[in-house]
Amino acid sequence: MSLHAELHRHLGGSVVPRILWRYLVRQDHPLAEQYPEYKDFEAFFTRPRRSLEEYLELHTLVEHVQTLDALPYFVMRLIRGAYIFENLAYLEIRYTPYLRTDRNLDEDQRIAQMAEVVRAIGDAARSPEYPIVTSQILCMHSRLSDKVNRAIVDLAAAMPEYICGIDVAGGDSHYAARLETFADLYKYALAMGIKTTAHLYETKDGIYPQLLPYVCRIGHGIQIPLLYPELLPQLAARRQCLEICPTTYIKTGTLSDIGQLRPVFERCFEAGVDIAICTDNAGLHDVRLPFEYENLLTNDVIDFKQLKACQEASFRHAFAWPHAKPPQAMLTAQTVG
Ligand SMILES: [Zn+2]
Repeated sequence: MSLHAELHRHLGGSVVPRILWRYLVRQDHPLAEQYPEYKDFEAFFTRPRRSLEEYLELHTLVEHVQTLDALPYFVMRLIRGAYIFENLAYLEIRYTPYLRTDRNLDEDQRIAQMAEVVRAIGDAARSPEYPIVTSQILCMHSRLSDKVNRAIVDLAAAMPEYICGIDVAGGDSHYAARLETFADLYKYALAMGIKTTAHLYETKDGIYPQLLPYVCRIGHGIQIPLLYPELLPQLAARRQCLEICPTTYIKTGTLSDIGQLRPVFERCFEAGVDIAICTDNAGLHDVRLPFEYENLLTNDVIDFKQLKACQEASFRHAFAWPHAKPPQAMLTAQTVG
């Protein structure tokens, strides 16, 4: 049995539609009334969206359901499915902790509650029955205040037993106005020894070269090999890895055909930039990691040798895999920052 590492999976998008629908039915949720038949709910939940913006609205829907009380229910099922159906040996789960806190509390109280959320997820993910090595990536969010985002970085520093890194999410077109703030938060995180990734260069609206020096890995980054291949040698020198999530680009309308990823892989291999193949939202897409691999193979985007190279890269760039070392270039960035 081959075992895989998954580096880019959102907690909100990891819930498979049937588990979410059953939960909504049990809770008498309005969506369950709207979709009393499972197949109609599945069609609504997994259909492609017109844009990344529209796609992210689905995350909001799941975030509202994933309250502190409900988190163990979802996380336990995520781990079980990942072990049984995906042969995962290692999984990094990412989410914005503030968005799982009680909405009736004020900002300071919600910030204080984030640690409970981290603990609830971390404890539910440790299952003797389904022994996957798991860790959490906390996502800052482009729509949250600077105070909350800084508290998220502080929390990552305070709970290394549960958290391996930070990210920024929320739609890459929204960072522009606060680019300097995010760069400062990344420098702050690196200075505390926290590993970093960011949703960057996913769409043509997410082109922020200013943030590139501060990330160990790049969430998506497909527009770099597609539109800015001249940046690839810099990425190779910093030993940065792209987290490529093939199904996402079809679901968000960023690409129209998976074959468009062919030059992404070709140019990265040629430049010596590692790629980790990931799912992003395995539940929301109903496409688990082995099927991402298979889709790339059957569409002749990569061959088996290249797949093996990507699978090995996933372990090499994992933030909390026991033998992973931080990329050397990032250590330099820490001292500079
Ligand atoms: Zn993502």
